[in-house]
Parts: sequence; C-alpha cells; structure tokens
Amino acid sequence: MMKKNLYILLIFLIVPLTDLRSDEGMWLPSLIGELRIGDMQEKGFRLSAEDIYHINQATITDAVVSFGGFCTGELISGEGLLITNHHCGLESIQSHSSLDNNYLDNGFWAMNREEELPNPELYVRFLREIQEVTDEVLKGVEDGISEDVREQITNKNIRRLQDSATDGTQRKAVIKSFYYGNEYYMFLYEEYNDVRLVGAPPKSIGDFGGDTDNWIWPRHTGDFSIFRIYADTANNPAPYSPENVPYQPGNFFPISVSGVDTGDFTMVCGFPGNTDQYLLSTELEMILGKSLPSKIRIRTERMEVMKKQMDKSDEIRIKYAAKYDRVTNSWKKWQGVIKGIDKVEGISRKHDTEEKFTGWIDQDPDGRKQYADVLDSLKYLINLESDLILAYEYQREILAAFEILNFAGEFMDVVEAFHSLEAGEYYLEYTVDETRELANDFFKDYTLSIDREIFRRLVRIYTEDLPEVYYPLPLKKAMQKFKGDLDRYTDYLFDKTLFSSSIQVMSLLDEMDKAAIKKIKNDPVYSLALACEDLSGQIRHSYRSITDRKDASYRLYIEGLRVMEPDRDFYADANGSMRIAYGEILEYRPRDAVSFGYSTTLDGIIEKTYLPMEDYSIPEKLTDLFNQKDYGPYTVNGKVPVCFIASNHTTGGNSGSPVLNADGQLIGINFDRNWEGTMSDYVYDLNQCRNIAVDIRYVLFIVDRFAGAGYLIDEMKIIQ
Ligand code: ASP
Repeated sequence: MMKKNLYILLIFLIVPLTDLRSDEGMWLPSLIGELRIGDMQEKGFRLSAEDIYHINQATITDAVVSFGGFCTGELISGEGLLITNHHCGLESIQSHSSLDNNYLDNGFWAMNREEELPNPELYVRFLREIQEVTDEVLKGVEDGISEDVREQITNKNIRRLQDSATDGTQRKAVIKSFYYGNEYYMFLYEEYNDVRLVGAPPKSIGDFGGDTDNWIWPRHTGDFSIFRIYADTANNPAPYSPENVPYQPGNFFPISVSGVDTGDFTMVCGFPGNTDQYLLSTELEMILGKSLPSKIRIRTERMEVMKKQMDKSDEIRIKYAAKYDRVTNSWKKWQGVIKGIDKVEGISRKHDTEEKFTGWIDQDPDGRKQYADVLDSLKYLINLESDLILAYEYQREILAAFEILNFAGEFMDVVEAFHSLEAGEYYLEYTVDETRELANDFFKDYTLSIDREIFRRLVRIYTEDLPEVYYPLPLKKAMQKFKGDLDRYTDYLFDKTLFSSSIQVMSLLDEMDKAAIKKIKNDPVYSLALACEDLSGQIRHSYRSITDRKDASYRLYIEGLRVMEPDRDFYADANGSMRIAYGEILEYRPRDAVSFGYSTTLDGIIEKTYLPMEDYSIPEKLTDLFNQKDYGPYTVNGKVPVCFIASNHTTGGNSGSPVLNADGQLIGINFDRNWEGTMSDYVYDLNQCRNIAVDIRYVLFIVDRFAGAGYLIDEMKIIQ
C-alpha cells in the first residue's frame, strides 16, 4: 500500500513537468487569461491579451480570416490586400488558367486593380465575436439521458441560439463543441464574397519541391498567393460587382523585415481543423497498429499502380497528377505519425496520464465515484469499435478508390429522376444535363487500365481482411460464381460494364427511355455501387452508435482530468475555430547525428536544382536573379531567406496563418509541418514538432524582384 501511494505521488510529480515544458497548445483568443499571457510575455511577447482579441478595439484577430473555410489568410494593407498560401489559392489560380493564360505554370500578377480576377466560389470570414454559450446549449439536458436525446436537445438549442444571434444582421453564427461537449462557444462571423486574385508565383516557386518535399524540412517553397477583399461603398459585404471598392479592414499586419533568430518568440493565429490530443492509449494503439497501417497499405497499392502507368505515358501523368497528389499527401503524413509517436513514446505518455487519473480517483473513491468506471467503459467501447474499424475505414479508403464505381453511383440520381417523372420533365432533363457534364469531366481524366488494376488489388485486400458480413451482395455472389477467383470477377466487371465507355454512357444519356434505364439498372458496376452505398450506410450507422457513446465517455474523462488538475490550462482539440499558438524559432535533431537549422535560403533552392527532378526545376528568371545577386534589400548575410521553422503547435487548416513576432508583426506565412512532427495531432513534442513558414522577406523578394509587382509593396506597412 505504502509503495502504491509513493508511486502515485511520483507520477504526480513527473507528469505535470512533462505537461508544462513545451510550447504545446492551441488557445481560444477570448480565453487568454493572466496565466497564459504571462507565459507568452515571459517567452518574449511584447503585447497584451487585449491586443490579441477585444470586441471594441483593433486587434490581431481582426486581421485574420478563415479563407474559403479550409485555410487561413491575413490582411496586409488598409485596402483589403490579403495573403495566404499558394496551395490555398490553388483552385482560384487554376480556375483562371488555360493553355493561353497558364497562370499555374507562369504565375499571375494584376498590374492594376482592374486586372484583379474575381472568384465566384470564394469567401473569407472575419471573426467578430466569441461568446460562451455552454449553459444555453445544455438547457434541458438532464443526467442519464441517452446520447441521441442529448444530441437532439443540444442541436435544437444550437439552431435557436444561432438564429437569434444573427437575426436581422448579415452575420453568420457557428456554435462549436469543446472538450467533447463539456463547453460550447458561439463564433460570430462576417463573410465577404468578393475576393479577387491579385498575384501568385509560378507553381515552380509556389509549390517548389512538390510531392518530394511535402511534409519535409529543410524546405524551400514560396507557398504564397495574394488576394484582395472588396466591399460595397459602405464597407459592407456584397456579392461581386464592378462597383465594389477595396475593403477597409479594422486592422492589418505590419510586416517586419528584420528577420528571425533562434529563440525568437513566434505566434500563429489561424483556423486549425482537427486534433485528437486526449485519446486514450488504447485508442491511439488501435490507430497506430490497425487503422493507419491498413490505410497506408491500400494507398501504397494505389500509388504503385498509378505511378507505373504515369511513368510510361505523359498523357497519363498529366491526367493523374492531381489524383496522385491527393493520395500521397496523407499517405506520407500517416507514416510520419506512426514513427513520431513511437519516437517520443507517445503511448507510454498516455499510460502515465491514465495511471495518474486512476491514482487520483483512488485517493477519494466516494467523492470521485462518477469517474470510477470511465476508463474501463472507454476501453470497452474502443475494443468494440476495433472490430468495426477496418470495415469502416475500408468503406472510405477502398470504395472511394474505385473511380468507375463512384461514377456509376452518380447515375442513381438519373434513375430516380426518371421514376419521378411526375415531378416534371424539367427535373429529368436537368439531372441528365448535370450527369452529362460530370461524365465529360470523368472521362477527361480517366484511365480504365489503372482503375481495373486498382480494383483487382484492393478487392483482394478487402476480402482477405474483412469477414463476409461486410461484403456487398454482388461481391458475395461473385465469390461463389467465380469460386473465389477475384481476377475473373474483376475482368467480368470491367468487361461487362457500360460505364467504361464514354460513347455508351453518352448515348444512354441521350436515349433516356425505359430501355436505357433498364441497361443502367442491369449494369454490374451500377448494382455494385448501389449495394456498396447500402452497406456503407449500415456500417456507418453501427460505427456511429459506438462513437457517440465513446464521445460521451471522453466528455466525462476530460471533465475528470480538468477537475484533477484545476490549475492546469487544458486546451481544447482543434475544431475549425480560431486559435492562437505560440512558441519560438527552434532548430531540431530529427535523428541520430543529424541536426537541422531553423532557416533556408535561395542558395538551397539552387542546390536542389542540381538534382535532375521535375519537383526541383525553377523559372529561369529566378536563376538569373540568383546569378546576378539581384536581391534588393531582402537579404541576410548576403543571402535571401526562404523558409523557417518554429515550435508553434499547428495542424491542417493553419495553412496560410500569419506567423507573428513579439510585436505582432508579420514575419512569415505558415504552410506545413515537419515529417517527424506530424504526430502533433495526437501528441505534441517540443523536441520534434515544428511548423514550417515561408519567410515574409522571400515573399517580398518574389513580388518585387521576380514579378516586378513592387507597387503592391507600397501598399504594405514595412517595418525595418
Ligand atoms: N499543410 C497543412 C494545411 O494545408 C498544414 C499542416 O498540416 O501543418 O493546412
């Protein structure tokens, strides 16, 4: 007994130390209290909490926007000029590009306001206010009710609160759950829809290093693009109109060109999407041992098939470039996550926290009895989920990989429209037209032999790894008919289907009579798509019934952790709401005998170009500027700085976020993380986790010396 108590005491002493030691955390701007700001100031920050967020004065958060709902952007002039990443602006850049005006490859620079390009789909959101609404959202939630009922009540309350907060205004209200529903906050936004493209470097600068360097440090990517927000003449949001004028923001960031040094304070303000910091060791083990490896294996097969054919034909390489990129991005990140957690012993850190929690309950079993079973019930639910996890993941990873299956699935709408002809001919015509457009897009970038080979390989994995209950009916039947010979089934499917031929598909859409509908319904790929949709729905339903219960237990667990350590400032998982992360410019050692510096330069770009790789080719003009040392004032020790790293805790969605110095001035734009640190979504480690930013001086150098768009710099406030 004595020994046990001593042990518990030791854990109490050890764990808080590991918790306090790092720059970990993503903080809600409205909750930066005395302790937090004290810590920031101790680390070098020279401003106050009111300079970060305040409803009635110009603050840092006023100069930051959610860019399109998937990235972050920041204001850099009093005339609505906004900067974000190149990869965040990519869709807009691409949508204006054609063979004649290839802005993607050559870059784009509006030389005056008339040349700025509107983007009908794009919006930015300013955060105007944060309100805690926990009591209001939980009104009517009684102890002991089921998760379903709780969800119904809270959803109703949320809708009512959102509606009443925005009634009669142009604002948008979003309520988000924090700490698995222990707290709720409402975010009031103002959305601007006239956002025009002002400038973007060529892809060979904006995406320099491509796939090869993705998630990698040292990095040399000029990952930025520039937009301008327009408003009506009263500075209010307005749909695109040539009469609109540049928006005048409440605040914008001055730009510091004095650079960064190791140990300097840095802060990131943005919209991180998703993290899972409070998972139990058991759940993390399942993710690392089961879910990520199986997804990696599936994607490895897909990439192998694509790559083989892409290497053989330029036409296929172009068709599959974007698809391939989408597959590799997470594939590479997941491997980093597995390695990273292993390296920092993330699982045993989780064990420590769980043991500490159990010890704390044991100290006062009566007073803390509400938490007594929470770890066990979580473990039980995680184990229950583990039986379903592959079935669930495979629906998303494998079924989503079959291009023809997804394409055939789109015809469900056509069949439905045909049968609901009473709804009017117009509806059918409209659906057919839409599907025709979809078919054109599909066949433009489709290669049957790739899809067939991917199907052949993945259907094998599916049948090897999952029990028969998870087979869609046509697969079950095929296993009998072809006596388990999946190669024959694959050939049968791809030889028989109509959906592999654009001529047949288009003539089906032209005919659109009873016979055509019959052909669709009898098609083996269409039937498989129908059955898969059905099955996926069932699996999703079972999975959700477990995760809902699990979330309820996590809610109790986190509540307990917070009661256990009342003085510790627990940060909530990222959920797409605005957060502040702070840390410092910091080198790191990724592995034995290897040490990485904190910044890169143009010289490093030139060094990379010595390797004969497409990802490392750069525009001639950049080489010329380097050869002539035509750097302008954007140098440090005679070199142009390009990227830097810091210890700020960031994740997906933080792309485009401002990286600020101790005075709240812009020094860089966040765009990625290092591979060794991608596990920060689960476990952050100060020695390994780094965010990667493009140095603002490289941005200015490209705008000024490379693009000759120095007039944009005149609009900015540059601090020497
Ligand atoms: N690259 C990510 C993004 O696009 C940032 C990250 O994951 O660190 O938001």
